[in-house]
Amino acid sequence: MCKICDATAPGDLLSPEASHDAGRRGFLKGAAGLGAGAAAVGLAANASAAAKAVPGNLTAARTLTGYGVPAGGGAVRAIPLERRALGPRDVAIETMYCGVCHSDIHTIRGEWGPVRGTTVPGHEIVGRVVGVGAQVTRFRVGDMAGVGCMVDSCGSCANCTADLEQYCLNGATWTYGSKADVPGGVTQGGWSQGITVTEHFAIRMPQTGNLAAMAPLLCAGVTTFSPLHHWNIARGMRVGVVGIGGLGHLAVKLAAAEGADVTMFTTSQGKLADAATLGAKAIKTRDVTLGASVTLTPGYRRRDVPEGVDHVSYGAGARIFATARLGGVIANLGGTQGFAGGTRGTTVDGSLAYPVAMSERLTLIPALATTWGNAKNNDRYFGIDRLEAINSGLDRFEPGAGFIDASASLTASYRLTDRLSASGSLGVTRLLGDVHRSPLVEHRTQPTGFFSLTYRLGRIL
Ligand SMILES: [Zn+2]
Ligand SMILES: [Zn+2]
Repeated sequence: MCKICDATAPGDLLSPEASHDAGRRGFLKGAAGLGAGAAAVGLAANASAAAKAVPGNLTAARTLTGYGVPAGGGAVRAIPLERRALGPRDVAIETMYCGVCHSDIHTIRGEWGPVRGTTVPGHEIVGRVVGVGAQVTRFRVGDMAGVGCMVDSCGSCANCTADLEQYCLNGATWTYGSKADVPGGVTQGGWSQGITVTEHFAIRMPQTGNLAAMAPLLCAGVTTFSPLHHWNIARGMRVGVVGIGGLGHLAVKLAAAEGADVTMFTTSQGKLADAATLGAKAIKTRDVTLGASVTLTPGYRRRDVPEGVDHVSYGAGARIFATARLGGVIANLGGTQGFAGGTRGTTVDGSLAYPVAMSERLTLIPALATTWGNAKNNDRYFGIDRLEAINSGLDRFEPGAGFIDASASLTASYRLTDRLSASGSLGVTRLLGDVHRSPLVEHRTQPTGFFSLTYRLGRIL
């Protein structure tokens, strides 16, 4: 009946180790017999197989097969799973399809904390009702039903009575991993042959149609539908969706179905082609970004140089730059041509930065940078010409074109509010090449640092 066990031996299913670095697609591909990219795993080969399956005596707890991991994690394997006896308000569902949400994968890999006990994930469950309790009014045996990410709540607090059971003040019971009055004391999810839930948390599903495709609507779908609905997304509005994974692609489809003008932002070349199919325009990020700006070029004050040497005023330069994101590294390359004040020379600068998110608010950014200058820039900035040598008594110095400096820095950026962030940076800069021999240079290596507060104004264009 199960496509997974038809294809692979128990104990060797969906090995998290084998595909640990891969995303959800990789995880799914790791399971032989599953369609790559299919979000819902078929647990019944077809509807008739489900209909013929014997539900067992529903008045007593029954043992089914689940697919999950033992305490501590490991490969996904078949696990015997006890479901409670059918209560008066309960619906027993035989699973036909269950989505593989990335949160399921995170959970069983221990990426959201250690796997404390046997865990059968799955919270996008679609199946056939095989039993109903005496007080159930919305379902009959044979109906199609769905179960999302929660299976119970107190039902009487302010949030529950306002249809916000997910915010139950006494704690909602999640489809798996929640302490509850069920066999084993902890709820277990839909990667299993069946589930028994109170009627209130079962959703009526169409009797016909592509049930496998409907399963992901129960988590990824409703998660993205909710904000689109909240903001009354409609024809003529513009919607941007960042990231086209389990949630993102549904957000694109839902917004496009409402007639919105949808743009999807993706880092994956392979997903660009999906845009047209999903009804959106696509913008690929991580590509090289090109830009141009007018920038301040550094000078130095008259009192910082010996008598007889011209100072270099601060000036303005025209700058072009390129930024590329390559697997977490941000590379910058820029060129500046001075056109007012300053040296009026040319400099080229490059940097590599690797932002590391330490928490939701704190980001650390280690960075390396270097600057190159042409002869005009370097001679003007570091050189002593013949007249200056006579006037100052210093030796003549003509550095010519070459690298000027290299620096290493560590910046900490802390987001205080949505708009306000504070940054502090400490680093060290060392002069390179010829220029460090300039009579104007006192210390070849200098510490650097800054502190800044940034307020983001929001959308301007
Ligand atoms: Zn989910
Ligand atoms: Zn409640």
